[in-house]
Amino acid sequence: LIASAPLEDIMKILMYNTVSDEMPYVEKWTEKTGHEVVTIDQPLNETTVDRAKGFDAITTQQTTAINVPVYAQLAQFNIKQIAIRQVGYDVLDLPEAFAHNIRLSNVAAYSPRAIAEYTLTQLFNLIRHNKKFDRAMNTGDYTWAAGGQAREIHDLTVAVIGVGRIGTALAEMLHALGATVLGVDPIYRAQNEPFVTYTTLDDALSRADVISFHTPLNDETRYMADENFFAKIQPGTIMLNFARGEIVDMVELEKALESKLLAGAAFDVTPNENDFMNQKQDITALPADVKRLIEYDNFLLSPHIAFYTNTAIKNMVEMALNDAVTMVNGGVTENEILR
Ligand code: NAD
Repeated sequence: LIASAPLEDIMKILMYNTVSDEMPYVEKWTEKTGHEVVTIDQPLNETTVDRAKGFDAITTQQTTAINVPVYAQLAQFNIKQIAIRQVGYDVLDLPEAFAHNIRLSNVAAYSPRAIAEYTLTQLFNLIRHNKKFDRAMNTGDYTWAAGGQAREIHDLTVAVIGVGRIGTALAEMLHALGATVLGVDPIYRAQNEPFVTYTTLDDALSRADVISFHTPLNDETRYMADENFFAKIQPGTIMLNFARGEIVDMVELEKALESKLLAGAAFDVTPNENDFMNQKQDITALPADVKRLIEYDNFLLSPHIAFYTNTAIKNMVEMALNDAVTMVNGGVTENEILR
């Protein structure tokens, strides 16, 4: 193997909070580029910042905050950047980083298809009543009546709320399958016209068989699906939330499942997910609303795994490491978080 970086340009990169899934991609990247990566399994914080001494660049992915004292320390070690291997960069203290001339990057689009494909998977699971059939088969009931008649995807009208990276990927696939796709987004993208009919939220809600959220969480979208929103949807609608838990009022969701206003729902996120997701606990320790919801045959819950594919992990690792090298060399990357 021939390393592509000349010897004098070889960088030493410290990779915080590395998980085993990332290792094969780290190894391939170092082979390809010739740079050196040291992996550790702790996050970057006041206690672990000393480890960065002697390195040229650092990268991390973590949900815990990188507090004020860390940036001054990094600057002292002549670290000029932090490459975050995830979308959300609320863990960073931007003013403090910029005050110490530390450049920052995130990985904003590691694989929109990963989330879009899983949304589609769960939509198919709902319309084929797979949870109901599975539960019946577990009791020995292999009749057709156990699950019920399905609908076919090409007959459905799907409202995609938020036609950004993920919403666009989903809309393209739905259109290819013959579904009618309505798009709701304050940003109009003409290139989506071949597969999306843009309309207003109210119009979409009045026509949709399926509503799928793909917006960020912000002041406008927080609890966007409230009592008023549910009052506008059609009986028998399916609701999908693979974006952020706080977009949907879970009390209203439960009411809509109970009253059969919703024919089904699939969620990968919930407002209280930090209390139980990515943790292993006794089923009785789950939050009360989650325990009630998972009893429904037509409610599918998954542990925030829509993103979790080989492509996404590969892109997170490679993009962050490439950005680290680019920024140390004074170059430009579209992933930079600008001041
Ligand atoms: P994006 O920024 O590319 O697209 C979001 C779109 O939503 C934009 O086009 C924006 O104009 C639109 N939007 C904003 N406010 C809106 C509103 N009030 N009504 C309608 N549209 C609105 O983002 P993305 O990469 O497509 O991600 C979308 C969501 O998916 C984010 O919330 C993200 O956190 C979530 N996500 C979930 C997972 C998972 O594993 N479940 C993984 C990655 C991202």
